[in-house]
Parts: sequence; structure tokens; C-alpha cells
Amino acid sequence: MSRFAVSDRPFTDRLDVLRTERRYREFRSIAMQPGARPLAQWARGDGTPREVTVWCSNDYLGLSQHPDVIRTVADAVELYGAGVGGTRNIAGTHPAHVALETALADWHGKAAALVFSSGWVANLAALSVLGKVLPNCVILSDAGNHNSMIEGMKRSGAPVQIFRHNDLAHLEDLLVRLPKKSTPLIAFESLYSMDGAVAPIRGICDLAEKYGAFTYLDEVHAVGLYGPEGAGIAAREGQAARISMIQGTLAKSFGLVGGYIAGSAAAVDVIRSEAASFIFTSSLPAYLAEGAQRSLEILRKADDLRAMLQRRIAETRSELEGLDLPLLPGETQILPLMVNDPEHVKLAADLLLNVYGIYIQPINYPTVPRGSERLRITPSPQHGPAHIQALGQALEEIGLEMGWRPGQRRGAG
Ligand SMILES: *Cc1c(COP(=O)(O)O)cnc(C)c1O
Repeated sequence: MSRFAVSDRPFTDRLDVLRTERRYREFRSIAMQPGARPLAQWARGDGTPREVTVWCSNDYLGLSQHPDVIRTVADAVELYGAGVGGTRNIAGTHPAHVALETALADWHGKAAALVFSSGWVANLAALSVLGKVLPNCVILSDAGNHNSMIEGMKRSGAPVQIFRHNDLAHLEDLLVRLPKKSTPLIAFESLYSMDGAVAPIRGICDLAEKYGAFTYLDEVHAVGLYGPEGAGIAAREGQAARISMIQGTLAKSFGLVGGYIAGSAAAVDVIRSEAASFIFTSSLPAYLAEGAQRSLEILRKADDLRAMLQRRIAETRSELEGLDLPLLPGETQILPLMVNDPEHVKLAADLLLNVYGIYIQPINYPTVPRGSERLRITPSPQHGPAHIQALGQALEEIGLEMGWRPGQRRGAG
């Protein structure tokens, strides 16, 4: 018998619900190795390793395995140690943090930047403060926004109105009706992580100008990959200067971990001064800040890698479209294959891994709405023609077995 006052029953009951709904999450242990991408060692349940091809990583350019990034991080550990030992306010600000923030601000053409423990925390921190400080703030949030933004908006206490995904007309409908004294804040992403859709950034900036709105843009899936020097999709569209605040991550194309915002000096300073999830947590180790500076230097000059990524995206898309698989249309590095069933998506992912040695994590609720479960495929410069062909063959065989049709694209976004 348990000696605790409260039994485990509520927990085991909840786990039963998750299993019944086929959304109990199983993590796959995957060990990447420098030089081996996209191959990795999968640690199977029985402990024996198997070599698999990874097709679902957000390390879009492979910088986590880049020799210069690895060298920089290793050198910085030797120089500065493993951790910094405090919050930014209490002994935890290292010159590497300050230098990284200056470099990020410069990259985005903003006056200031601020680094956080993760991109999730950056969104939570920034939106929770912006919604409080902007006078009579009303937040207008795209229906496809990431959980981290939603949590930040909730925490701000400001009223939130949701506009249909990438729908300018609906956004304007909502803006028109706002009381004159309110300050609208439009929160959106440049590239949506689960459907690969790109926001109408220019149109949103036009509306923001017309209605006096603050624009908050999550560029997590775009920084490093698009625009001049990889500065993002807003930069590519010539709209970066019209975005009040850009948010990004150091975990995806940067290949490390951490997040950031970039904006006006005063707005960034207020978030630095007031966001609980910035103030009350220890800062990133200096080696990460050093590594991120190195990644940024590489990203700014990575036109070749970006071109190679685009080529692999086109090749992968053409292979899968040629097989009539239910792929969402698009032109970015995110290729969602719509399965629209929690059981089927899990079965497909298990078959891919166990039979074909291909790792694609199934995406299910709450990451996407129920009934829109999918396989989210992310090519990289390291996925060559043989990997792409093997992927196509595996998906074709599984698709035939499971009766996938190109028509089953409903449920997107
Ligand atoms: C991954 C992600 C984040 C969070 O970034 P992390 O650095 O991984 O915490 C924020 N926004 C979007 C859209 C994301 O996909």
C-alpha cells in the first residue's frame, strides 16, 4: 500500500484516457552524431541501437552538428565553465549574453534584443508584459498560433480575439470593431510550424498601420532559412522594419537552445524589467551564448546551405507529390502529410520506424486539432536523393496499405 496521502489513481486514470484517445506520447531516443546526419542511432526499447534516417528534426540546416559551432561551444566551456550561476540580475550576465543580444538586434535591424531560456519562454515573457503595458491592449491572435504565444497572452490579462488563420478580412473585421481607446496587438507567425503556411505579412502590416496596432511576429521556423542573411520572412518581404517585435529561437536553425526577442529599446527594456519568466530564472550558460554567436555568423553567410535546403525541399516534394500522397501544398521546409486519424498516424509512424528505419514522429492533439493528425516531414541539406527515394518508397507502400488518398487534406491548419 502507498504511504502517501493521495494515491496515484488520478494519474493512472488520466494516463488511461490518453492511451484510449491514442495520444499517449512515446518519446523515441535518437542520438545524432556529427558528420552522420540525417542518419542517427535509435535506442530501441530492448536497448539495442538501430541506424535510422531522421525526417522530422527542426535542426533545419544541421548546425547542431556543425564543426565550427561544436568547436566554439567546447572552447567556451573550457574558458568560462559549465554554467553562470545566477539570474541575469544576480551574477548571471556574462559578456557573451550582451554580445549575442547586440548581434541579434543588428541582424533583425532592431535597436535591442533580449535572450531567454527558450523560444517558448521568450513568447510567454514578451506577450505577458506587452498585453499589460500597452494601454487598453486587445490582442488579435491568429488561430494557428503556437502554444507559447497563447500562454503569454493569457498571462497578460488582456482580452484576446482570435482571427481565422492568415485571414486578413477577418482580422480587419475585428480591428474595425475595437473601441477607439484600445491598443490592438496583432500576434502571428511568419511560417506556421504545423501546416507550413506563410503569413500575409505585408497585408497585416498595412492593417496595423491603418489601425495603430503593435505587431508581434514569431519567426521561429524562418530565422536562418529565409531572407537576406537568413534574417527571416519579414526581412525577405521587406517588412521587418514594420514589425514592432520579432521573436526567434536559438534551437532550430541555430542548432542550440534558447530564444529571443528583438524590438525597440524601450519595449525590450520593459520586458527585461518586468517579465517573471525572464527575471526569476538562471541565465543560459555562456557557452550557449558563444555558440549562438557562432551559429549566427554562419547563418548570415549561409546562402549555399539555404540554396541546398531549397533544392532538397523541391526534390522531396516532387517525389511525394509524384506518388499522390496526401501532402499539403506549400513551398517551405515543412511538408505535412495529412493522415487525419490518431490511430493511423501512430501506426504509420511505427511502420516507418520499425520496418523502414525512417523516423517521423506522429503529430497529434493537442499540437494539432483532433482529426488533423499528420506526419510532419522536414528535409534538410543533408537529405540526399537516396534518402528521398527511400522515404517515397516507404510512404507509398504504407499509404497503399492504409488507403491514403491525395483528397484527404481536410483538417489543415
Ligand atoms: C518551437 C516553437 C517555439 C518555441 O521555441 P523553443 O526554442 O523550442 O522553445 C515557439 N514558437 C513556435 C511557432 C515554435 O514552433
